[in-house]
Amino acid sequence: MPTYKHYQDLKKAEHLANPERIGACLTCKYWDAEGPRTGALAPSDALCTHPELRRFQLIVSGGSGCNEWEKYPNVAEDAEAYAQVGVNS
Ligand code: SF4
Repeated sequence: MPTYKHYQDLKKAEHLANPERIGACLTCKYWDAEGPRTGALAPSDALCTHPELRRFQLIVSGGSGCNEWEKYPNVAEDAEAYAQVGVNS
């Protein structure tokens, strides 16, 4: 199974249902990472606290993603830029 350097590459290559709903954990309100949401946090791991996913105890990096994503309110510009890598190319 192929792996990808960025979740946006995977979205383009894997023909997923509703790819427009998939966002990065780095910019998701359910990602339980400590500290400011900057791009530097992308390689870090934290629990997903989504109400319907919490029981799976998902440990996800800032570069992970899913289609239950919801925007975290205070995301730094470089984190937003990380989440959008390759979108317009
Ligand atoms: S796995 Fe999905 S719901 Fe959980 S933090 Fe990541 S994007 Fe958000």
